[in-house]
Amino acid sequence: MTYTPDAIRSITLSTLRLPLSVPISDAKVFTGRQKPMTEVAFLIAEIQTEQGFSGHGFSYSKRAGGAAQYAHAKEVADAAIGEDPNDIQKLYTKLLWAGASVGRSGVATQALAAIDIALYDLKAKRAGLPLSKLLGAHRDSVRTYNTSGGFLNASLDEVLARASQSIEEGIGGIKIKVGLPDSAEDLRRVRAVREHIGDAFPLMVDANQQWDRATALRMGRRFEELDLIWIEEPLDAYDAEGHADLARALDTPIATGEMLASVAEHERLIAARSCDIIQPDAPRVGGITQFMRLMTLADQAGLDLAPHFAMEIHLHLAACYPREPWVEHFDWLDPLFEERLETRDGRMIVPDRPGLGITFSDQARAWTTESVTIGR
Ligand SMILES: [Mg+2]
Repeated sequence: MTYTPDAIRSITLSTLRLPLSVPISDAKVFTGRQKPMTEVAFLIAEIQTEQGFSGHGFSYSKRAGGAAQYAHAKEVADAAIGEDPNDIQKLYTKLLWAGASVGRSGVATQALAAIDIALYDLKAKRAGLPLSKLLGAHRDSVRTYNTSGGFLNASLDEVLARASQSIEEGIGGIKIKVGLPDSAEDLRRVRAVREHIGDAFPLMVDANQQWDRATALRMGRRFEELDLIWIEEPLDAYDAEGHADLARALDTPIATGEMLASVAEHERLIAARSCDIIQPDAPRVGGITQFMRLMTLADQAGLDLAPHFAMEIHLHLAACYPREPWVEHFDWLDPLFEERLETRDGRMIVPDRPGLGITFSDQARAWTTESVTIGR
């Protein structure tokens, strides 16, 4: 059988705002840099082809930026119409150059991420394969830890109850936010969680970039006795040298990378040996094409992988990493999709449905505020 090229007929872009049930605070709220988060903005791309295939992808923004992602995608999407959707590398480059005047990171590439992810979803659906199988998986399930139960707006009692619930649901690790103005309170909360879940259960902490170098070292030394799986974002996301000093000084592994917005920014982190565990985010770095490049660089440097947020996408990507990764469990996005990801024995099971294996819900459509179709 010979291959007959397909062509992209249309790209429908939509924007929606997902409300959160309670306002969320991490350390950035306590240092006064951000307000509690009340919603997450999404950019959704739906691609249709002349041969009748379709694919969905999404990008997101917490607080500001969602409107800009949508606006940029609307301007560049036309460059993809008529192209073969299977030529994803070519399409990424073409879309990138269509908007190159505003750069190759941040909003510009995050707008492309939704389209790039939709192209991979489409390609996997055409092949009748889950995305992880299309890319080439190492495993059918990935270790998973919960983040959504450990924010700083939650009381310690709530954090402990949510940790118990996560463990009952088959989740394999618990992450707790730190970086409160009172570091004794940070220690009290993390020690209480360690006692609650037992010495052997995987536990991580996340300072969301709010410590200075001296505080990070002092807190890192205090946390050594708690056998943490990692300390996340102890310092400013762009302080590659500070992270590298810390990674050398502490036995506890250092994790960072979620805030970086391109492969080039991650490359600097990797070159400086800033972390033991890299935490890229596919929607933030420009999609799956870019994430795959990063996985190669990270593996080459001997790093472990724990992608940030968007478990619906990252589960498939983490399944393809050579070293045993972690995927972050967040229940926030559940209302957007018809399906639920299954967790069992500490792991998240890669769905066996074709593509990403997600269908947007009626609720997602109800929350959509704007939509436009490029092409016909
Ligand atoms: Mg984090």
